[in-house]
Amino acid sequence: MNKTELEFQSQAATKAADKIHRQKINFNIGRYNAVVPTGKQQFMDVNTVREKAKNIKWRAIGSLDTQLEKFEAAISRRGARVIWAETAEEARGEILKICRQKNCRSIVKSKSMVTEEIHLNDFLEKNNIESVETDLGEYIQQLDGEPPYHIVTPAMHKSKEDVAQLFANKLGTDPAFTPEQLTQVARQTLRKKYLQADIGITGANFLIADIGAVAVTENEGNARLSCAWPRVHVVIAGIEKIIPSLTDLALFWPLLATYGTGQRLTVYNSIITGPKQPGEQDGPEEMYIVLLDNGRTNLLADARSRESLYCIRCGACLNACPVYKNIGGHTYATPYSGPIGSVITPHLKDMEEWKHLSYASSLCGNCTEVCAVKINLHELLLENRHEAVEDGVAGLQEKYAWKMWKQAMLHRRFMNLPNARMKNWVVNKFLPSWSNDRTKMEFPKKSFNQLWREKYGNR
Ligand code: SF4
Repeated sequence: MNKTELEFQSQAATKAADKIHRQKINFNIGRYNAVVPTGKQQFMDVNTVREKAKNIKWRAIGSLDTQLEKFEAAISRRGARVIWAETAEEARGEILKICRQKNCRSIVKSKSMVTEEIHLNDFLEKNNIESVETDLGEYIQQLDGEPPYHIVTPAMHKSKEDVAQLFANKLGTDPAFTPEQLTQVARQTLRKKYLQADIGITGANFLIADIGAVAVTENEGNARLSCAWPRVHVVIAGIEKIIPSLTDLALFWPLLATYGTGQRLTVYNSIITGPKQPGEQDGPEEMYIVLLDNGRTNLLADARSRESLYCIRCGACLNACPVYKNIGGHTYATPYSGPIGSVITPHLKDMEEWKHLSYASSLCGNCTEVCAVKINLHELLLENRHEAVEDGVAGLQEKYAWKMWKQAMLHRRFMNLPNARMKNWVVNKFLPSWSNDRTKMEFPKKSFNQLWREKYGNR
C-alpha cells in the first residue's frame, strides 16, 4: 500500500466513526434531497433532458480540438487572450506573469475547482499576492485554512454554529450571530476587497464555442463582481468545459441548477464575451482565459473513460454516494471527490498512486442513477480497477487474492477443502480489511455439497 492509500484508509476509518460529522452531512444532504424533486418538475421528461445533455457533451468532447479553436478565434476577435496550459505548473506560471505585468498585489477570486486543482491560492500567497475567496462557502473554508469539502457546497461539513464560532475566532464577531448576521459581516469585508483588487479570477461553468464566451452561474453575485470591478479578468477553465453553442445553455443552465442545488435556475447567470469594448461603461479592460489540460487529454485518449469529461460538476453523485456520506470530502485528498473524483483522479494524476479511490465504492450504481449527464460512473470505477490490473499496478496481495478466488470459484472442491472453522478464521481474522468494519461471519458447519447430498443423495 502506498502512502496516499494508507492515509486515505486511516482518514476514512476516523471519519466513518465520527457520528457528529455524519449528522451534519446527513442534515445538509437531506436538505438537498428535499429540494431536488421540486427543481426536476420544470422538465417535462427529465430523463430525455439528461440524455440530450449527454449527447451534446459527447459531440463537444468528440470534436474538442475544433470546438476549442472555434472558441479561441471568436473570443480573441473581441480582444480576450487565450492561453493554453498543458500542466498546473504552466497555468500558475502564466497567471503569475500576468500578475507581475500588472503589478498586482491583490486578487478577488470566485469559486473555481480548477484553481483548487492547481493550488493557485497557496502559489499566489508564496509570491506575496493576496487572493481572497469571495464565494461565502469558499470564504469560510479559506478563513479556516481548509480546502473545499464538496465541489458545489464547499463548507457542507460545517453547521451554522461552527461557522459562527469560526467568525468569532478569526474576525472577532459575536459567536451567537445568526447566519444572516454572519453573511453581512462577510459581505462588508469582501466589498472592500473588490475595491482594492487589481485582478479578478473566475472559473467557467461552460465555454461556448460558437460565440466565443464564458458562462458563469452562481447564487451570490460575487463572480459577477470579481470579473466586472477589477481592471483585469482572468478565467481559468478545464478544456472539457466546452459546449458547442449558445443555444445549448437553455438546457445546461436549468439542468446544472436542478442537479446542483435543486433550483430551477441559479440566481446570477453571466455570459462574458470579452473585455470592455469601445463605448462600453462596465467590465475589465483586459481579459485572459487560461485553458487547462493537466491530464484531461489522458481521459480523452481513453475511449472507455472519455465520457467522464462530460461532467458538469453538479455534485449530485457526491450527495448520492454512501461512501462519500460516511468518509467525507476531505478524505479523498483531491479537489474532485466522490464518485466523479474517484473516476478522474487516477487519470489526471497517477494510476498507481490514486487507484485506491476506484475501490472506495460499493458499486451500488446510485451515482450513475443520479448523474445529470448520465455518465456510467460505477462502470468507470470498474474500468479503472481493470486498467490498474492491466497496467500491472495492482498490489501483489490483491493479485494473489483474486487468483485464489478464481480457482475456488472454478473448482467446487477447493471451496470445500477448508472446514467451517478454517473459513471463519480466514474471513474474521486473516482479512482484517473485511472484518474490521463488519459483523463476524459464521460459516455453516456443513458445506453446500454435503447438505445437497444429505437431501438428494448423489444426484
Ligand atoms: S459525474 Fe454527473 S453527477 Fe457527478 S458531478 Fe459530474 S455531472 Fe454531476
